[in-house]
Amino acid sequence: MSTFDYDLFVIGGGSGGVRAARIAATHGARVAIAEEFRYGGTCVIRGCVPKKLLVYASRFHDEFQDAAGFGWTVGEPTFDWSRLVAAKEREITRLEGIYRANLERVGVVTFASRAEIEAPGRVRLTESDRTVTARHILIATGGQPSRGPAFPGSEHAITSNEAFDLPAFPKRVVVVGGGYIAVEFAGIFAGLGAEVTIVYRGPRILRGFDEDMRDGLSAEYERRGIAIRCHATIAAIDKTADGLDVRLDDGSPIAADQVLLATGRAPNTAGLGLERAGVKTADKGRVVVDGTSRTNVDGIWAVGDVTDRINLTPVAIREGHAFADSVFGGKPWSTDYAMVPTAVFSTPEIGTVGLSEADARQEVGCVDIYKTRFRPMKGTLSGREERMVMKLVVEPKSGRVLGCHVLGADAAEMAQMAAIAMKMGARKADFDATMPLHPCAAEELVTLRDKWVPPKI
Ligand code: FAD
Repeated sequence: MSTFDYDLFVIGGGSGGVRAARIAATHGARVAIAEEFRYGGTCVIRGCVPKKLLVYASRFHDEFQDAAGFGWTVGEPTFDWSRLVAAKEREITRLEGIYRANLERVGVVTFASRAEIEAPGRVRLTESDRTVTARHILIATGGQPSRGPAFPGSEHAITSNEAFDLPAFPKRVVVVGGGYIAVEFAGIFAGLGAEVTIVYRGPRILRGFDEDMRDGLSAEYERRGIAIRCHATIAAIDKTADGLDVRLDDGSPIAADQVLLATGRAPNTAGLGLERAGVKTADKGRVVVDGTSRTNVDGIWAVGDVTDRINLTPVAIREGHAFADSVFGGKPWSTDYAMVPTAVFSTPEIGTVGLSEADARQEVGCVDIYKTRFRPMKGTLSGREERMVMKLVVEPKSGRVLGCHVLGADAAEMAQMAAIAMKMGARKADFDATMPLHPCAAEELVTLRDKWVPPKI
């Protein structure tokens, strides 16, 4: 008979923690989980899900405009932010309930409380000030927006956490940052009718993504009227009778209703008791783990964004599942981080899997590039000037497709499918041998005949 209250105590009811708890319970473990905010975590409550719902909302604007070219007459559309926020809230509350019910159905004990580690095997629930014991503790506390260094008036700025529930729709928005979250919110607010400026200290948005995707999206955003101010930072924000007066470091002013800081995220480890328990952390406070999500302390494990490996929901879920199968199911396996597909839900969106051209050149030296830029068929009648970009990065010797990058409608859907083939080791010759599906945009990916030759300068 175990002397512990539980076999496993999970701290954090988000993507990774919930999956780990459920799977461990189905393997027969006695499991408890604590969540300090809302079950479902970042993805369900203030990340992927509400973000995508807002992206859908923002895209109707294009549909109304494009409809005329296809014979439709659409009246003057109007948009109600509070109705959208209320509908979004109903959906995430429904999902939150499902997450909780799924845990309880397999016998997981759920606590609505913050939890902190007292020592290996001991967890304190702060709501009730009660200590429970567990043979294994899983840290799955995720991450939170980091606001960066304070500057005069920075307290007037919000983060992505608040952006989902603003009481009024901001007509003028400054988004600070150049990562995918910044770029997505810029697209959302612009699509819903706001005047948007991206302020980014780097030379070009979306660092780490393929250069053709970065250039292509920057051009499309500018075409849509989203201003992108690179090499820029905010010096100060003043509250005025009319909203916010934003001053950039070069002295130029921008009038705004909201300033959204999307300058990065940091693992949620402050006050968690890691030092007390002897758990090793590294930069930004991330928990250091090995390939099996084991920390340096026996019986303490960590999965998901708190470990700052690849900060995506499906990755956190896999890590949680692998942990539970390995420790409680007698089926050891670990997460494979190769060929993880990902998207930027800008409008137009980016779907990508594998290496960017720059990363591939660094990893394997010489690469062959196949790419195309074209106006999608829908644009012919709608009159929309938007261009789609597709690109394959190929290893010349083996012919393996190392990277696939798409900018344009449904790029995320394409990247998910391309990822299957690429995970199986598909070569460019396999893409070529695949019959095109006509007429669709994705057929371009299997009809890229000519290697791209850099223009002579
Ligand atoms: P989380 O989901 O963050 O869960 C951690 C949970 O722990 C939280 O609910 C928190 O309240 C709780 N917690 C923290 N400390 C304690 C404590 N001491 N006691 C009790 N509970 C605690 N990923 C994608 O794959 N696709 C996307 O499109 C995407 N879009 C995103 C958009 C935004 C705006 C953001 C912010 C993130 C997005 N992500 C996306 C990332 C994704 O949300 C995360 O990678 C994922 O949620 C990580 O899961 P997790 O289990 O590690 O942590």
